[in-house]
Formats: sequence, structure tokens, C-alpha cells
Amino acid sequence: MTADSVIIQQAPTATELPATVRASLSPSRAADFKTCPLLYRFRSIDRLPEQPSVEQARGTLVHAVLERLFDLPSAARTPQAAGDLVTGQWDRLVTEQSELAGLFPEAGPSVAEFLRSASALLDGYFAVEDPRRLEPAERESLISAVVDDELLIRGYLDRLDVAPDGALRVVDYKTGGAPREAFESRALFQLKFYALVLWRTRGVVPRVLRLLYLKDAEVCDYAPDAEELVRFERTVVALWRAIEQATAARDFRPRPSRLCDWCSHQAHCPSFGGTPPPFPEPPATPDPQRDARSAPAPPGADE
Ligand code: SF4
Repeated sequence: MTADSVIIQQAPTATELPATVRASLSPSRAADFKTCPLLYRFRSIDRLPEQPSVEQARGTLVHAVLERLFDLPSAARTPQAAGDLVTGQWDRLVTEQSELAGLFPEAGPSVAEFLRSASALLDGYFAVEDPRRLEPAERESLISAVVDDELLIRGYLDRLDVAPDGALRVVDYKTGGAPREAFESRALFQLKFYALVLWRTRGVVPRVLRLLYLKDAEVCDYAPDAEELVRFERTVVALWRAIEQATAARDFRPRPSRLCDWCSHQAHCPSFGGTPPPFPEPPATPDPQRDARSAPAPPGADE
């Protein structure tokens, strides 16, 4: 990081970005590169399509319900009210995202079971939090900051709570059923990313980064500190430099791991006998406005 990192209070439009900014990075894409450089290439440069899985669609639906739940007056935020939102939110998502509609081409037991499974995750939410006692400051908000003069870092917060003394708590809902150990470091990387943006834009290090695992009804709290975030910022900038070098060299290598089980691109991956498509020329430039939260989360990433 440079001492004079540019600070942006809200997600900027492309025209509002400082002229020095020439790249953007979301926590999902940064984590992709850390996990497997070739996965980053497939998603960010080749932009290969990914059909959302049922699990990802369930995550998208549960996030939507939890966002809408807080539109209700606090006393009305009951498990019953959350359950009542499920079908309407699914109908809305299917209308807005055609790729979700393809998951269940016909109404029937599979859709009903899917909606029931979403309600079960909401039960997990109510086991760890009482939303009647909460008044989130922000939900599903896009935050961003420019670091190192040239790099826009941004991402969507599930929820931000602000205490009366100004303390910040970043909350992220995790809905996946994947083994915890396979994803926890990735999830914490994502939360530290948000913490860094908040620190750089508001001058406050979040007191708590909270992961809510809805399937297991468990809470994982992490307290970052400023020194750690300074180091983390260096890590993010170094990661971006590594992405730039890999792009210049057209060299993105596969890094097989347990996460391959959740990768949509095994057919193109040399580690699975596949061949990557020709490298796009010129390489696609990651778009600061891409990765909108309205799209389903990519496999194994943000749920
Ligand atoms: S299958 Fe594994 S090694 Fe291959 S691109 Fe996907 S994550 Fe990387």
C-alpha cells in the first residue's frame, strides 16, 4: 500500500474513478487466483460460463430472504415471516436470473424440496441470531477503495452492523454444505478484504468479522487489527502484481486441491485431461462493475 491510498467512500462509477486506476479486484477473484491461477483465468479472462448449482441457488435465495427480512419492522422478523418470504423471493430471482430458471424446468417436488431446504437454512440462522434485536446499518452494499494508486478493490457486504460507539461488525452468511476446513481460509480472506476497504474508507478497523454458518448454526468471529490489515493490503497488491505478470506471460497454471471437486471447469483443465481454450487476445480487462451481487455466486466461493 502507499501512504496516500486514494479513498472512495462509496462504490464509484467508472467515470468517477481516479485516472490512475487501471484495474479492479474483488475478494472472490483474488481468492480464485490464490486457490488456482488457472481457475482465475477461466473466470476472469476467458469468462467461461458457469451454470449455478442447486447449492449456489439455495445460497442466493437465502441471502435474498435475509436481506428482505430486515425490511420488516423489528418485531415482525420471526422465523415464520422469513419462511413466508422464501417462495416470493425465489420467484423474483428466477424472473431476474434466467440461469436459475434452468435448474428446475418444471414445477414439482424438486422445487418444493429446494424451497424446504432453504427454509431449513433459515432455521439455522434463527438458531444463532435474533433479528428482532438487530438494526443493520447496511445490507448487500457495494464498498470499494483504491489502493496502491492503481487498484480498485471492492466487494459486496452481506451485512454491516454499527454499534452506538461506532464499532463495526461485518457479517457474512455462509450457506454451503462443503467441508468447513476447505473454505474457511477463503471466507476469512474475503472478510479481511472487506475490513481493509472499510478501514481505508471510514478510518475504523472493524471490531468483528463474523461468519454465520447457517447449515451448522455456528458463529465464527474474528477480530482483525490495523497491523494485520496493513500486511493484508500488501498481500492484495502483491497478488494483483502476480496476476498482471501471469496475464503478460499468458501463464496461469492449474493448482489442484480439494476445491477441484467444486470447479465447473475440469473439462478445460489439464489436471483433468482437458485443454484450456485459446488465450483471448487481447486479454479481457477485469471490469470494476462486474461481479454484481445479483448474479449467482461462483462455485466454492461466496455462496
Ligand atoms: S479443476 Fe482444479 S486445478 Fe483445474 S482449474 Fe479447476 S480448481 Fe484449478
